[in-house]
Amino acid sequence: MRQQERDPQAASVSRPCGENISRRKDMTRILLVEDNELNRDMLSRRLTRRGYEVEVARDGREGLSMADMCSPDLILLDLSLPEMDGFEVLRHLKQDFRMKYIPVIALTAHALVTDRSRAVAAGFDDYDIKPIEMPRLLQKMNTLLNSKAML
Ligand code: MN
Repeated sequence: MRQQERDPQAASVSRPCGENISRRKDMTRILLVEDNELNRDMLSRRLTRRGYEVEVARDGREGLSMADMCSPDLILLDLSLPEMDGFEVLRHLKQDFRMKYIPVIALTAHALVTDRSRAVAAGFDDYDIKPIEMPRLLQKMNTLLNSKAML
């Protein structure tokens, strides 16, 4: 009888994204790009608890490559990020024919009108302000996910 391979290193190579070994077709995949560890962990936990599959990235560059690798259904993108800020990440996403249709919600700590108008003008699908209120964010996410599903 042949012994089954159980090498965790080998298994990790085939993982498409993050720590999720396989993608469940019935789950909506969210990519969260946030450099603040507390915000990232809290939001990630809350989304996971509500049944979303969550991938996380800690800076703009990582966010962009995760968006490419993971094909998320929606991206939550912090505007203020190291390496590459949210505006620059969005520019790259919109220039890529495979990623330009992924809905992107900008997240920012600053409730400034200029930020909001900048975000909309830059091409974000929506905008939300930290601290995040889950019912409000979930409503925005659902609106975008539902309109995407109808395409
Ligand atoms: Mn930030």
